[in-house]
Amino acid sequence: MSEDCIFCKILRGEFGTEFVYENDYVAAFNDINPKAPVHVLVVPKMHIASLNELEDKNLMGELLSAVKTVAQKCGLKAYKTLINTGKEAGQEVFHLHIHVMGSKGE
Ligand code: 5GP
Ligand code: ZN
Repeated sequence: MSEDCIFCKILRGEFGTEFVYENDYVAAFNDINPKAPVHVLVVPKMHIASLNELEDKNLMGELLSAVKTVAQKCGLKAYKTLINTGKEAGQEVFHLHIHVMGSKGE
């Protein structure tokens, strides 16, 4: 957990954010500024700044598995996933997250 990380604050429940899905390792919540009709962020519960800092292969599996679960729960048959790694690539929040974007029924 990181004191001033916005996603750690969300994970601590400081904003009362509703989780689309969670288990012991990961959580998923709606993006505040959605770029698709369904836009969910899947994050590790542990503070990991970016994909470059992720070494735990089990956690890698948990994250991708959660993406599939989220897509299913949100009724997405087709969806895009995105991980921005590094400021130059567009990463704005330095707590690893996978964007899951799609439209229901597509
Ligand atoms: P990045 O550019 O780092 O890959 O994506 C960060 C994402 O986090 C953006 O899509 C942005 O809209 C989202 N975001 C930033 N702050 C918050 C927040 O406080 N709550 C939620 N739910 N999403 C956020
Ligand atoms: Zn964090």
